[in-house]
Amino acid sequence: MSAGAPRRELPALSPEQLALRERQGAGARYDADAAPHAHLDLARRGTAYFARRLMQLDDADLDAPSLLPGWSRRHVVAHVGYHARAVARSVEGARTGVESRMYSSDTQRDEEIALGATLPTRALRHLVDHAAVHLDVEWRDLTDAHWDAAVVTAEGRAVPARETAWMRAKEVWVHAVDLGNGGSFLDFPPAVIDGIVSDVFRAWTRRGDPGAVVLRATDRETALGAYGQGGPRVEGAAADLARWLAGRGARRLRVVGGGELPEIAPWF
Ligand code: ZN
Repeated sequence: MSAGAPRRELPALSPEQLALRERQGAGARYDADAAPHAHLDLARRGTAYFARRLMQLDDADLDAPSLLPGWSRRHVVAHVGYHARAVARSVEGARTGVESRMYSSDTQRDEEIALGATLPTRALRHLVDHAAVHLDVEWRDLTDAHWDAAVVTAEGRAVPARETAWMRAKEVWVHAVDLGNGGSFLDFPPAVIDGIVSDVFRAWTRRGDPGAVVLRATDRETALGAYGQGGPRVEGAAADLARWLAGRGARRLRVVGGGELPEIAPWF
């Protein structure tokens, strides 16, 4: 089932890396100067946020449906764990120069999640913790130059390795809400809200989505964003606007001057 994801050993460290580790000692390692510090910080805080929400769920609670159609909480947890592994594989590829796709195919990704959801609960919790730690190790092993090396996203686009930090950040924050036990976009740092809005608009642009919308955040001094030409002005708290754009439902939003909210295509 998970044949596309062979077990990998961490490659041996270079003499320079070993010397650096020697000097710094265990547990005192840092991101390279050129690392995307702000996005790494969001990813790490999001990982902690996800872990807190997960900790509040008893084993039996994991069998219940998540907020994502067709997925139990187990599926969400398995996906967040395997996603970290997939990002770690691509980051490792940026370091070693051996291109490694996040997933070999959508089918492999879906089969891995379906199988992961059937793991014993302890193994499932371990998967998500361990995969997050491993990803952090991979990130910290990158030099300044590695952060600009190309990785291939789940959609098959080549992007610089630095984009993996945001790629991971949005997953952990949004899927923590998908667990459906009280997580909320209202808890997100403003930078995550802004990141989601620009990410969704970029995805629409890539797809040539013909829609148009102007976002008016009632809790922001400046405009939150706009897509296309004209379009209805949708008003609400920035977090609620981001939640709606992310395809997680409309709450407390209104169209200025009346009318229906535009349809939102799925994001991820
Ligand atoms: Zn996801």
